[in-house]
Amino acid sequence: MRVRFAPSPTGQLHVGNARTALFNWLLAHGKDGTFILRIEDTDVERSTRESEVSILDDLRWLGLDWDEGPDVEGPNGPYRQSERLHLYASYANELLAGRHAYYCFCSPQKLDADRRDALANGRPPRYAGTCRELSPDEVRTRLEEGEHPVIRFKVPAGVDVTFNDLVRGDVTFSSEVIGDPVLVRSDGHPAYNFAVVVDDALMEITHVIRGEDHISNTPRQLLLYEALGFQPPQFAHLSLVMGPDHTPLSKRHGATSVAEFRERGYLPEALVNYLALIGWSPGSDEELLPIGELARRFELENVGHSAGVFDPEKLAWMNRHYMKAAAPARLTAEASRYFLKAGFIEQRTEAAMEYLASLLPLTVASVDRLDEIPDRVRFIFAFDAAHAVARHDVAAVLEEPGARDVIIALASEITGPLLDRDAFRAVAARVKERTGLKGKSLFHPIRAALTGETGGPELDLAVPAIDRGAALSPAAKVARILSCRDRAATFAAAVNSRK
Ligand code: GLU
Repeated sequence: MRVRFAPSPTGQLHVGNARTALFNWLLAHGKDGTFILRIEDTDVERSTRESEVSILDDLRWLGLDWDEGPDVEGPNGPYRQSERLHLYASYANELLAGRHAYYCFCSPQKLDADRRDALANGRPPRYAGTCRELSPDEVRTRLEEGEHPVIRFKVPAGVDVTFNDLVRGDVTFSSEVIGDPVLVRSDGHPAYNFAVVVDDALMEITHVIRGEDHISNTPRQLLLYEALGFQPPQFAHLSLVMGPDHTPLSKRHGATSVAEFRERGYLPEALVNYLALIGWSPGSDEELLPIGELARRFELENVGHSAGVFDPEKLAWMNRHYMKAAAPARLTAEASRYFLKAGFIEQRTEAAMEYLASLLPLTVASVDRLDEIPDRVRFIFAFDAAHAVARHDVAAVLEEPGARDVIIALASEITGPLLDRDAFRAVAARVKERTGLKGKSLFHPIRAALTGETGGPELDLAVPAIDRGAALSPAAKVARILSCRDRAATFAAAVNSRK
């Protein structure tokens, strides 16, 4: 089995296309096949190297490596269509010689007028066939005069093209509805339908698995296989990925590109696992399946033909699962860029990374994505007593009976760093003894004084985390963190000054 993913480098990798790549990859890996990556960059105006680089990068990030393709090469290269123009030219000549194709000199204006005419008369707007029967002499003369024609495929009249789609079953198109497609543009570049056939044939692709937006191209391609004497592959057209409103997933629905999901802090294994389950079922209720297991179970027969809806909630749920399962060092490395962005660390020094790793247990259980992590520990890095006491929720805590006594007692009871839970509990016990308060009446004011917040991670974890951070040397390149002792003192002063 040889399958391929053939992106056009005209933008970022859309999650729908990533799913197509994934299904190809799963099939190749589950069936001991070969996964080929081919860059379809013959649309010179829209293709960019930058987009190619980002697509390759996203595929690698998802773990969808390729056996043949740009930068790994292989026996059927080159793997970039722009480097294969000589091949398309040679097959175009073959089709011209066999009268399966012809030069078309129609101007864009003429084509446009024909099109409008057809629409006005209720006919399908397909090529009128004007240049089909030009005499060889006329063609030669016009070429000699320097005209730049396109090459069109002569679609045989009156045939039905049927193929067995591995997802959708038998599909039939009448050749009558297909206008003669352009194979080679006037600038010499091949059109998609032509290049794809030459490439899939020469690269010995056995299964073409792609989005259903290409289903109407398939009969044209099959006719070309026949004209070129190539054996066609099998086809499977995947339903598109829809937004919650059942229209194709687009910008209107939020993030659509792999790069955006990556940027927002989804783990690749979560995205892969989630995308696999859009329109495919592993045949059991299990949903959390790593990529190897997905590949082992993946069968095209179990791909549904109704559209799959992208459910951000479910993706978030999977991401939470994979974040909890990830090795701490990896999660720290992944999360560190958001700490850099927030300005909470200046550099990824060893000490900074160790410190971040120690903060993860405070946060991971309560976030959907990595980019939400720094915000959960903002209280550590951005404590401001004056600002805190001005907040409504904090002020409400301070109104509780005895709250101010707790604040005063806390400021005098913290005499050194609270580096572990026991040190914090000992302080809390002394404050309790002095004020006679316990439970919420005790811990709400303590939380407010040490974190500036009225909610957040367990104080048993949060307090030592603050003081571990405060003890770091400037060489750690972590933003300066105020110690619990200083927090309690400045908070008490701020409370006092608001009386
Ligand atoms: N370059 C085409 C696309 O990105 C590939 C279609 C195909 O797989 O045949 O849509």
